[in-house]
Amino acid sequence: MLDQEIKIVIDHKRCIGARCLNCVDSCPREVLDWDKEQKKVVVVNFQECILCFACEEACREDGNNCYKIEGAIRKEFQPAPRIDMWGGAREVEPPISV
Ligand code: SF4
Ligand code: SF4
Repeated sequence: MLDQEIKIVIDHKRCIGARCLNCVDSCPREVLDWDKEQKKVVVVNFQECILCFACEEACREDGNNCYKIEGAIRKEFQPAPRIDMWGGAREVEPPISV
């Protein structure tokens, strides 16, 4: 269950709505939907949100940047450990500069 202080904020004045819907389409949990009557993206299933940020990134990548998840702390990207031929895992090494 999500912390109640976390909320999805959409700037509806800047959202291009039905011409886009990237946030809706990118959500793996059907948290968002397009409300035909209100003509805006709405949060319909907030408790299913897994904070994957796909929605926020989809809006930003498209240049609209009018969608934000507030109150959530993003986890830093962690590179996966490399599995070597002996089956062991070790830290990923930085690329060699020439
Ligand atoms: S991705 Fe952004 S611009 Fe597109 S529908 Fe969602 S909130 Fe609106
Ligand atoms: S953070 Fe992930 S699960 Fe939550 S609304 Fe966005 S896309 Fe859906």
